[in-house]
Amino acid sequence: MTTFKELGLNPEIINGLDDLGFIEPSPIQEKAIPFILKSKKDLIASAQTGTGKTAAFGLPILNQIKANEKDLLAIILCPTRELCIQISRDITKFAARSKWIKVTAVYGGARIDLQIRSLKNGTNIVVGTPGRVHDLIRRKVLKLQSIKWLVLDEADEMLDMGFKDDLDAILGQTPKTRQTLLFSATISKSVHSIARQYMNEAKEISVGDKNVGAEKVTHEYYVVNARDRFEALKRILDYLPGVYGILFCRTRIETGKVADMLKLASYETEALHGDISQNIRTKIMDRFKQKQIRLLVATDVAARGIDVSDLTHVINYNLPDHDEAYTHRSGRTGRAQKSGVSISILTPREVNKIKKLEEIIGKKFTYKKVPQGNDICRKQIDNFLKDLEETDIKEINNKQYLEEFVEKLKKINKEDLIKLFITQKFKSLMDDYKNTRDLNAELKITRARRENDDNINLKINFGKKHGFNVKNLFALINSNKNLKGVEIGRINIMPEYSIFSVEKRRADAVVNYLNGTNLKGKKIIINKSNMAASYQGKRRNRPNRNFKRKRTDRNKY
Ligand code: ADP
Ligand code: MG
Repeated sequence: MTTFKELGLNPEIINGLDDLGFIEPSPIQEKAIPFILKSKKDLIASAQTGTGKTAAFGLPILNQIKANEKDLLAIILCPTRELCIQISRDITKFAARSKWIKVTAVYGGARIDLQIRSLKNGTNIVVGTPGRVHDLIRRKVLKLQSIKWLVLDEADEMLDMGFKDDLDAILGQTPKTRQTLLFSATISKSVHSIARQYMNEAKEISVGDKNVGAEKVTHEYYVVNARDRFEALKRILDYLPGVYGILFCRTRIETGKVADMLKLASYETEALHGDISQNIRTKIMDRFKQKQIRLLVATDVAARGIDVSDLTHVINYNLPDHDEAYTHRSGRTGRAQKSGVSISILTPREVNKIKKLEEIIGKKFTYKKVPQGNDICRKQIDNFLKDLEETDIKEINNKQYLEEFVEKLKKINKEDLIKLFITQKFKSLMDDYKNTRDLNAELKITRARRENDDNINLKINFGKKHGFNVKNLFALINSNKNLKGVEIGRINIMPEYSIFSVEKRRADAVVNYLNGTNLKGKKIIINKSNMAASYQGKRRNRPNRNFKRKRTDRNKY
């Protein structure tokens, strides 16, 4: 076991770490700390969320700041206000034994005059979001000429959020002699573009692609029709007593709506997204950390980097648009030696995405059925009864009333009493779940999965431009007697051409019989294609009325 001491850190810093319960360095710390202590070269470091990247750059920087230093020596840029607050709090904690070190956080949505005052009082480390930092530079209150270290935390996220211009401007103000340290959960194309533009011969270190926690996360998915998504969510939550987690939505609007609907249904929840004022966001985070809020509904960006260690669940109300975001989301749980569950609510047409995610995280997903109303009632009653059994009657101290009422209820026999008591206590839950339907859209799973394996994509040289549509495609195949019963899967009508999938064993027939024939006065060219058709058509070989229906399910909630 390597120790912090062996990495070259000073005793004051190490003693401070003891107070925080940091016993041994994490893998990224083991690699990054000695490098930053010894080398002046730039560094690109990647390690998953939750692996201690803040300390990996924070500790070696602090270690090199001399007693009673007055200059601003380090600037740490990060994408969100939450992250900014968290990093400055962490760094302040790391520096607890070196009280002269001053850390200032600057971010949008909070009073700039206070931030300006704090900068004017002198600071050694600034942690900021690019927009606000740029603003402060323009106002000439923030001067970066003495900077030795520039840290880009969650660098790719900053680019994705459109901070490129701010970054350009900020970096232009820092001295060439600075050491640039880039930390990110993933090394993406944008990370390399930053490296090319702002860094010199950077050393790259990367630690595994999984954090320790990821081992402890299990992945589950439910399949429902899009219109049942919210109802399914409620059932899943009702079936999970003691859930403490983050519910991820794709957009701010959806985040707000889902949180409102949950609140209406009396769940303890709040939304966290960019439109909410800083003040309120901080309060929400505090209440969430104290578990007064059990479920935080958030966008990926708002939740990025937020560190809460004992989440039991992460719920994907929608799968994220980028597969990588799934890893970040699920990495929120299973931390601090605890196990966690990452749940995804999918529509049948999203099921085929699971396969790719399984490859990325290297683990299988488990299919789960949305519980039925009576399963939920049974589970909640059962839990309640377990609690009762475990309660020590001797601990109850309002005996005088109890005796009195026990006397009164003697008339009712014990069995009836139990029934009355449970009915009374769970009336509203049982009413809610009376005669509810089965929400599982199960059948289509096998269908969607089969489609992946047994189908093949074909490209035809007809697209929207040629007035070609789904109906034409079905008609074309139906009109050829050799192609009777060929099943068509996904269809993508593009401007110039179209992609559609057919069963593998009939693909050659489709190519052979249709190639070279005429449609709308033009020769058909069909060949096999690597492109995926993303539109989920009906598999049956006949036009279907539903194709004309507008698909509105995406933004339903
Ligand atoms: P990242 O930036 O990689 O997502 P953080 O720096 O936010 O991760 O760290 C995640 C959590 O792990 C924090 O609560 C932090 O205090 C804790 N942590 C970091 N390093 C160690 C360590 N060496 N030992 C114990 N806990 C640590
Ligand atoms: Mg971090």
